[in-house]
Amino acid sequence: MTSMLEMPQVSDCTATACAYNHDGCHAFAVNIDSAAACGTFLSLNEKGGLDVVAQVGACQRQDCVHNASLECHAPSISVGFTAANADCLSYQAG
Ligand code: SF4
Repeated sequence: MTSMLEMPQVSDCTATACAYNHDGCHAFAVNIDSAAACGTFLSLNEKGGLDVVAQVGACQRQDCVHNASLECHAPSISVGFTAANADCLSYQAG
């Protein structure tokens, strides 16, 4: 579990169609929604973000074992495509 002031990093993301993905996610922070989909995913050819490793800003998936008070406490997460969404692959039902 991470400390109160650390946000989990997005250690890898295979959603290469996302504007924030160029050799991994470069959004400053991503939000994960109540279905564990990445709410920051943006399908654009243009690339954006910062020279940082993305972090999880907030997560609405309350039934995940890593979720407490609507924040993620996993050491890091992986994101990738399932069906049509970029989803948190580190989700574990609690
Ligand atoms: S690991 Fe669980 S709590 Fe963390 S972002 Fe993914 S779904 Fe949310």
